[in-house]
Amino acid sequence: MDFAATKALFDLPDGVIYLDGNSLGPLPRAAAARLQRTLAEEWGEMLITAWNRAGWMAQPRRLGARIARLIGAEPESVVLGDTLSIKIHQALAAALDLRPDRRKILSDTGNFPTDLYIAQGLIGALGRGHRLVTVPPEQVAAHIDEDTAVVMLTEVDYRTGRRHDMKAITAAAHAAGALTIWDLAHSAGAIEVDLAAAGADFAAGCTYKFLNGGPGAPAFIHVAPRHAEAVRPALSGWLGHAEPFAFEPDYRPGAGIERMRVGTPPVLQMAALEAALDIWDGVDMAALRARSVALSERFIAGVEAVAPALTLASPREPEARGSQVSFRFAEGYAAMQALIARGVIGDFRAPDIMRFGIAPLYIDESDIDTAIAAIGAVMDGREWERPEFRTRAAVT
Ligand SMILES: *Cc1c(COP(=O)(O)O)cnc(C)c1O
Repeated sequence: MDFAATKALFDLPDGVIYLDGNSLGPLPRAAAARLQRTLAEEWGEMLITAWNRAGWMAQPRRLGARIARLIGAEPESVVLGDTLSIKIHQALAAALDLRPDRRKILSDTGNFPTDLYIAQGLIGALGRGHRLVTVPPEQVAAHIDEDTAVVMLTEVDYRTGRRHDMKAITAAAHAAGALTIWDLAHSAGAIEVDLAAAGADFAAGCTYKFLNGGPGAPAFIHVAPRHAEAVRPALSGWLGHAEPFAFEPDYRPGAGIERMRVGTPPVLQMAALEAALDIWDGVDMAALRARSVALSERFIAGVEAVAPALTLASPREPEARGSQVSFRFAEGYAAMQALIARGVIGDFRAPDIMRFGIAPLYIDESDIDTAIAAIGAVMDGREWERPEFRTRAAVT
């Protein structure tokens, strides 16, 4: 893999080291032209006929198949649409419906809040006495029991980068008769994922983080082919109908993963995502992972050498991490603002986590070394004490 070549495919501002691709990936250089084509040649010229002539209607499946390769899923098992929160809702509703006699949804205390909120909302809407149980991440397997309908986890913890053992937990869930839902928000495009080998039942993820699809890019959902024809969609929208253009009054589910579509797909967002996937099509995930580990190890060693006040919040063992490195520092918010002012962009997650995404497609050794030096300068100069860095913005 030629990572200097992939770096050249991104449009990064001069003087910026971008370590926040785990929140919003940078702009692929080809995206503007790709979007312009969709605007001018497709929307502008073809108007409504573009749904057929430009293949807009099939795009959620076509792009889904390209994402499937990156997450070890069967090509026909992934479809795009909506947001990750909505895809989690769909997966959870479907999984609970497949295990009607069980009441427990098991997750962990590190899970991203929207996943937990969606579960809480769905429990209320169903009104069937389900309960959400969250336990510390390392105790998940021990809490899978005969009442567990679903184990719903984010594979890579958004705060610390700690990674679950997908294969082992899925096996434990299946041994107890439970299903699994894997949130791949910090996995897709970050680490090697093999959903089929792990036997995962459902998975979902977003495309605007490591996949670089742009702000508002649609989410994806995966349903294992063995469940695809059994799933009864809770969000039974017209584009998940067997024959949307028959306009029948009653819902009939579409074939397989098609039924997880809901409504009209975001065509412009998918055009931008397509430009990103053109890059991903050439990426060997094993090579990407090896480079992510090497860059992360270099970053950890360097930061620990220049900034002893920061304590590593991510697992020290590379195998136990995703593709981000987090440090704890009580003044982390202000320190991150000071770092951003120096052109090194990471982010902050309450209460005290400074988070750095390591994306080998556009981050190299010299970027890592520059970032380390900037962190050292912020710490040596106690720059977090400056008033201008201490005011919290709405988005951290
Ligand atoms: C980023 C993220 C989300 C975001 O969900 P949206 O509906 O796209 O806003 C959900 N879950 C996890 C684990 C995330 O990291």
